[in-house]
Amino acid sequence: MDSLFESLEGGENREERLAELARQVSVCTRCDLALNRTNTVFGTGDPYSPLMLVGEGPGENEDATGLPFVGRAGKLLDDILAAVDLTRQDVYLTNTVKCRAAVEEGGRMKNRPPRAGEIRACNPYLQSQMEAVKPEIILCLGGPAAKTVIDKDFKITKDRGKWYEVNGIKAMATFHPAYVLRQRGDDLQSAKRAVWKDVQAVYTEYQRALEEQR
Ligand code: SF4
Repeated sequence: MDSLFESLEGGENREERLAELARQVSVCTRCDLALNRTNTVFGTGDPYSPLMLVGEGPGENEDATGLPFVGRAGKLLDDILAAVDLTRQDVYLTNTVKCRAAVEEGGRMKNRPPRAGEIRACNPYLQSQMEAVKPEIILCLGGPAAKTVIDKDFKITKDRGKWYEVNGIKAMATFHPAYVLRQRGDDLQSAKRAVWKDVQAVYTEYQRALEEQR
């Protein structure tokens, strides 16, 4: 399944396309992540933005609220965007999987990374979001998003901060905010510096894209 929009082509605006897709996601059972979810987390932001951000997947807070990037990682993402004068309303924000991946540990559910098969099952939704939003730039947040969008062999520590071309879209990956938050001391400073540098490069392209739209 390459696109979920074949039957929706022609005439419909991006909001309508995304709303229909979100409706499909809300009842999706294509993988086992459907079994334990509270809410699906589809995506938010400006469907006309030239910039799409793709994270990994919902965690506990996102599952509870149905919104991407809430909690500490979400706050850091807001700070990262604010450093280049952007808000999450200026971009379109989504994840590789739309349901929380979790494992039971000590009597409670803990977040875990989504498995390759789960990302694969959910990928048609991400691809369809890209078709609807038509971003000129994609910033992948973390290795799983970069492996999904850019290259299955992507290595986040080696390959982040470089531009790639994906079906005519300029794509870059940087560290996931949750990864940055897990660092300490010098590692924390160096991860922050790397993300700041990457986001500035992305912002330059974002401004260029806006100017070309005018
Ligand atoms: S993660 Fe994606 S494919 Fe799996 S159930 Fe949720 S919406 Fe469907």
